[in-house]
Amino acid sequence: MSDYSFDTLQIHAGAEPDPATGARQVPIYQTTAYVFKDADHAARLFNLQEVGWIYSRLTNPTVSKLAERVCALEGGVGAVCCSSGHAAQIMALFPLMMPGCNVIASTRLYGGTITQLSQTIKRFGWGVKFVDFDDLAALEAAVDDNTRAIFCESISNPGGYITDIPAVAGVADKVGLPLIVDNTLASPYLCRPIELGATLVVHSATKYLTGNGTVTGGVIVDSGKFDWGKSGKFPSLAAPEPAYHGLNFYEALGPMAFTFHSIAVGLRDLGMTMNPQGAHYTLMGIETLSLRMDKHVANAKAVAEWLENDPRIDFVTYAGLESSPYHERVARVCPKGAGALFTVAVKGGYEACVKLVNNLKLFSHVANLGDARSLIIHSASTTHRQLSEEQQVAAGAAPNVVRLSIGIENAADLIADLDQALTAATA
Ligand SMILES: *Cc1c(COP(=O)(O)O)cnc(C)c1O
Repeated sequence: MSDYSFDTLQIHAGAEPDPATGARQVPIYQTTAYVFKDADHAARLFNLQEVGWIYSRLTNPTVSKLAERVCALEGGVGAVCCSSGHAAQIMALFPLMMPGCNVIASTRLYGGTITQLSQTIKRFGWGVKFVDFDDLAALEAAVDDNTRAIFCESISNPGGYITDIPAVAGVADKVGLPLIVDNTLASPYLCRPIELGATLVVHSATKYLTGNGTVTGGVIVDSGKFDWGKSGKFPSLAAPEPAYHGLNFYEALGPMAFTFHSIAVGLRDLGMTMNPQGAHYTLMGIETLSLRMDKHVANAKAVAEWLENDPRIDFVTYAGLESSPYHERVARVCPKGAGALFTVAVKGGYEACVKLVNNLKLFSHVANLGDARSLIIHSASTTHRQLSEEQQVAAGAAPNVVRLSIGIENAADLIADLDQALTAATA
């Protein structure tokens, strides 16, 4: 299957006709449990000697088909779905970390991820060090004996900044640590982190993978390339795991160790499970991923270029523009385009931004991105309201800035909507 091109895999990977009925579309297996053939069959399943269905907190046929498809699109060896993008991040770190361990993360991340890493994971005894990933020496210097992972986004929120993944992967290799890349904003169509050196890829399936703002979901894909046994730093994976009757996952399962651990221990005990109905919506969405991403990118480029040349605008941060300091990275990191999310600074500051948001007709004012519909948010008056102005500026959410997530409508209609709303906002 993996020999096929992306356009074929997004429809056919993990979509054989249903073995029970021949159903052509992936059925929604809305069931909690599965009948064992006999006691021996049940024992073999629980011992991981045979792969099969036990209970839907661990695996479900519809959800597994989605994992198979995203795995094929990312070029991994195994994947696990979970309940949200944030769940995927915790699930990715879970087998690697112990109390006292830390992850080194880029300063340029989705706001919710900064909160998750800087505040919430402290309760697990995990730590974080935030580093500017453009400073590779600082990244390397931040690594200590307790560091267990390096974390960044391929394209990052809100400014459309692009991480130099090959360079960061070079540091990860040198220090012998796994690199986790959140590929939500690029999708596997625009960026393939595993080919660029990532160990694990995480997704919020809530965004472009589903593509229409209907579900929350997450996926983790494992490259299968990391040697979990070499350093002795990953006992959950490469030493007897007390949480699974002393199984050494790496010894027993080799490159599938992370995937099986994430199901057999991660989903079993953390319970961050994706539901089959949600998996079905995401499977439907992924069938058109490449078509949608091409249109998202073309529209984003058209809108960003128009805005950049408009006298009512101070600046536009889209990496697809030649004026962007990150433009050079597009061809190397996300060769099919720089995504469709960027920020725009409006002359007239906070007041003008609020009026712009209030006067738009096609753009929806929501805290989401990666929808077929175009979306806008004025971060300073919403998601980043609690921060000081200094913090807002550092987060790319200054009072004079709005964030646009460009949809797949007609670009001229989007530009006309922005034009009329800018007129009203700056009158
Ligand atoms: C939305 C988002 C997340 C979190 O995903 P949820 O599905 O909302 O939990 C993580 N990373 C990025 C880049 C996102 O855009």
